[in-house]
Amino acid sequence: MKIQNDIKLVLNPEIFLNLIKCVENAFPNEACGLIFGDILEVPNEQQEDDYFYHYISRKFHCIPPDKSSSVSFLIENEELLHDIIKKETHESHNNKKMRLISVFHSHPKGTFPSFTDMDQMKYLDYFSSINHEFGNKAFKNLIWAIMDAINHEINGFIYFEREFQQVKILRRKN
Ligand SMILES: [Zn+2]
Repeated sequence: MKIQNDIKLVLNPEIFLNLIKCVENAFPNEACGLIFGDILEVPNEQQEDDYFYHYISRKFHCIPPDKSSSVSFLIENEELLHDIIKKETHESHNNKKMRLISVFHSHPKGTFPSFTDMDQMKYLDYFSSINHEFGNKAFKNLIWAIMDAINHEINGFIYFEREFQQVKILRRKN
């Protein structure tokens, strides 16, 4: 899979711990949730008119394990998805409005997207171009973060420029 170096997901330590907690509570089932924050455009100092996109995480919403907490369930239930997005993006963080930046879920083993995941990544991207209720592009260019339930390794993926690409996840304070 192509590596996309211009896009990075920045996870602060607190959010990273919340992801692990979410995975452990759901175990042995798949955990899932949504990461909210904002996307910073950082100019590339080496190259004019080139930008890096840093997806800055500010809040994580874990879907409680008593609901069917698979990511397919979430994506297929637009109403639930929209309710969570509405609630979380309504709150602001340091007076900054948040948006959905990443869809998170766990796998029993490994961090690579399944065929179903890839279908859903593509579907959400398409969906964002036809649905305007939640602001144009609410689902456009989302990073999918997948965590291995055993060793807590995490990787990020994006459907970008009609291609599945891997992005880097940075673990540091915002
Ligand atoms: Zn998956």
